[in-house]
Amino acid sequence: MGEKTYISFRRTKAIHMNITILSVKGLPLIHAGDNLPALIAERCTLEEGDIVSIASSVYSKSKGYTRKLTDITPTARAQRIAKMTGEDPRFLQSILDASKDVLIEFPFILSEVAGGHIGVRAGVDQSNIEDEMVILLPPDPMKAADEVRDALKKITGKNIGVIITDTCGRAFRRGQTGNAIGWSGMPAIRDFRGDKDLFGHVLKITEEAVVDEIAGIANFVMGESHNGVPAVVVRGCERWSGHDSLYFNKKEDFIRRALTVRAKPKKKE
Ligand code: GDP
Ligand code: MN
Ligand code: MN
Repeated sequence: MGEKTYISFRRTKAIHMNITILSVKGLPLIHAGDNLPALIAERCTLEEGDIVSIASSVYSKSKGYTRKLTDITPTARAQRIAKMTGEDPRFLQSILDASKDVLIEFPFILSEVAGGHIGVRAGVDQSNIEDEMVILLPPDPMKAADEVRDALKKITGKNIGVIITDTCGRAFRRGQTGNAIGWSGMPAIRDFRGDKDLFGHVLKITEEAVVDEIAGIANFVMGESHNGVPAVVVRGCERWSGHDSLYFNKKEDFIRRALTVRAKPKKKE
């Protein structure tokens, strides 16, 4: 009995990871024009295969992906949503401008942004920036991650993976976690489909979103509010194989489809 139960366990070689997570200490307040990869590389000794997670808020500040609320004139739609949510219509306009597709407007805007991420308030932040300013998500987060990875390679000569993170709310559970918004140097998904479990059953469904798991622990180490740690080094991850299709397409995304079903039937003419 025991023999049979553990047969595949005996056959496969287990992977044991010992992961170290290091916060990058002493980064200054970041402003447009700052060379973020250089500032990070100056403050830590990166090793081949490390993964650097960077808060999207700080990447965006370094690139000037920010807006002044005083420069924004809200449209009728932003004014209408403001009446429901009580938020500043200019802030709502910055969210609408950053949105490719609005899924819900109330009790908060939930929308798809460039790159395919779906986020509460389009990931637009009013924290960790001066008054009357907002931070937008990077418009091309995959390119952002590539760019930082290339820059780190030039500076250190090493292959460093990069994940651009954001703290995100989620459906069904209270509490925010870190999500990967952009990544470079690794596949987003570790694909277990076709692999056998301990009993020899073939896995049919499991695709593990490793970039989000790494973003999650990095986000924990970063902290929120005033901690001042927008970059974290994750060392010791075994390489994994899989693919980059992190986002469902519209057809596959049943929950999104359910959201777009009208709450009220259309009035008959
Ligand atoms: P988000 O998760 O990308 O929206 O970013 P957060 O606003 O939560 O910030 C993540 C971490 O970076 C927190 O520890 C912040 O205190 C820190 N942080 C934000 N902006 C700066 C900055 O300009 N310089 C430094 N050193 N830390 C920052
Ligand atoms: Mn954010
Ligand atoms: Mn955060």
